[in-house]
Amino acid sequence: MDTHVDIPPDFGTESYDPREAKRGRGQIDLMGMQHGGLDAVFFIVYVGQGERNAAGYARALADAFAKFAAIRRMTDAQYPDTISLARTAEDVRRIHREGHLAALIGIENGHALGRDLQILDTCYDFGARYLGLLHNGHNDLGDSAVPYSRLKDSPTEHGGLTDFGRAAVARANDLGIMVDISHAAMTTAMDAIKASRAPVIASHSSVKGVYDHPRNLSDEALTALRDNGGVAQMVAFDAYLRPVSPERRTAFRALRTEMDIKDFADFQQLSDEKRNAYQTRREEIDVKWPKASVKDFTDHIDYAVKLIGIDHVGMASDFNGGGGIAGWDNARDTLNVTVELVRRGYGEEQIAQLWGGNLLRVMETVEASARRHE
Ligand SMILES: [Zn+2]
Repeated sequence: MDTHVDIPPDFGTESYDPREAKRGRGQIDLMGMQHGGLDAVFFIVYVGQGERNAAGYARALADAFAKFAAIRRMTDAQYPDTISLARTAEDVRRIHREGHLAALIGIENGHALGRDLQILDTCYDFGARYLGLLHNGHNDLGDSAVPYSRLKDSPTEHGGLTDFGRAAVARANDLGIMVDISHAAMTTAMDAIKASRAPVIASHSSVKGVYDHPRNLSDEALTALRDNGGVAQMVAFDAYLRPVSPERRTAFRALRTEMDIKDFADFQQLSDEKRNAYQTRREEIDVKWPKASVKDFTDHIDYAVKLIGIDHVGMASDFNGGGGIAGWDNARDTLNVTVELVRRGYGEEQIAQLWGGNLLRVMETVEASARRHE
């Protein structure tokens, strides 16, 4: 199981066919999942942080609903014989037994809720089973690990989780939605763990103990996740695993300037021809100044396992959202991670825990502590 895979807004259309993505279009498709032995994926309803006013909230909600629709189009309309929506941990196991792939849904950025917790109930009905409180940029729920300069964020705004953030955590607990602290500032993360009456997850975060990046988890947060029964899903994201060389940074900046790509939206609007050209150039940069490796990634897993125990660690790719490393840059390559875990002495049972067993345990606990009818 991979707990964090992004999708562009045109996922599930001709330009990004979930069964077989065009070259350079995306790092995951159903054929790749089957090839790589990736059985279950949390597809992400991501909303970029925007203005916190009526227009901003309306836009965020529209973006979120488009993503829900794209995922449900894949599971319900396009490929129901290949992949099925899982709403519970037991669904994941049943779907797997039946020989299907499982799709789950996670929300990335509580900004999608605007100021209205009723929307979380609707998201639950659509299939959302985790709520990432933040993305880059502070929001109404709390402070982000990475303030957003475009929105003129100060380093801290609330000093942690807000009252609305606390209410969102409580509502998520009631519904049986897992609370996700990835992208939250460590102050917000600690507050959320304290506020939640069910175990909490970090859906895609690595560890500061190996590389001190703002997006990585502190030892304090890891320990708090363990004590609360939660799980930290290490993420295969190049820039979070080890320092990126200045040459690599410069090369990418130059490429983006040359192709006039200012943000992710520009990238999504590239023609197939331009996207192919971009992909070729990207591969050339990767050859010259390689991305972090599966070994670098596994160093983060080892560290977390040593600090908080095998029961509280898992893995995520962040494919289509900036994730992917040398050796695990596409769902097709997923087995390479398992091979490295075997090399490092992890047994079959432990590897099953890392590859989703722990996450399913947390999901079950969160389901059991829901109070849907109150
Ligand atoms: Zn993310």
